[in-house]
Amino acid sequence: MINVAIDGPAGAGKSSIARFVAGKLGYIYVDTGALYRTVALKVANCGLTAEQKEDIEALLGTTTVGIEFVNGEQRMMLDGADVTDSIRTPEVSMMASAVSAIPAVRAYLLNTQRRLAAENNVIMDGRDIGTVVLPDAQIKIFLTASPEDRATRRFDELKAKGMDVNYDDVLADIKTRDYNDSHRAVAPLKPAPDSVFADTTGNEFEQSVALIESIINDRLEEVK
Ligand code: C5P
Repeated sequence: MINVAIDGPAGAGKSSIARFVAGKLGYIYVDTGALYRTVALKVANCGLTAEQKEDIEALLGTTTVGIEFVNGEQRMMLDGADVTDSIRTPEVSMMASAVSAIPAVRAYLLNTQRRLAAENNVIMDGRDIGTVVLPDAQIKIFLTASPEDRATRRFDELKAKGMDVNYDDVLADIKTRDYNDSHRAVAPLKPAPDSVFADTTGNEFEQSVALIESIINDRLEEVK
């Protein structure tokens, strides 16, 4: 199986680029952030805060996080219910960033990610895919952009969904999540030593797609 790992901070365009490129290659696109978001939703639904680590660990024992692909589109299931849309709020984003620092949460989601990559050609995006989840991935990309560019992208996405958001709040959230994600003790966001760095600041979507495609195609030639 060919495994492509794309890591990077929130809002760098990982998911839209990876989804598009995976479609062209006929690979499955796996958005691992959605797994953390699903756990975060459960934690919030149960009225817990991210500080209640022991309660969260216990909660995992009675939680089922399912991932399904319907016409190539990833759907997230929480205890049998489809939560694909409800995990996309700013509150769930912040909760996901917080609960993802809990080692038990990361351990709980590891097998699901590895199994998908073992059984399929995948482009998997996240924060620790190239470093922890799939250290043997043939292709690793670290995708980033300036915080302002990333906040603009997130702001436009949330607005398009009809959410009432303000740019400064989105930028502050992005910076907080960057800090949390790169300073946690377990699986912090950092480039794998064998990753290719891709900066999409100022790019149009098509330019970023072309950049990622060229990185993947070059590496595919090498690993053939
Ligand atoms: O990618 P997305 O923004 O949806 O991820 C939500 C949160 O989940 C991130 O802020 C990060 O804290 C966490 N995450 C992670 N490891 C991954 C994917 C996401 O810790 N592989």
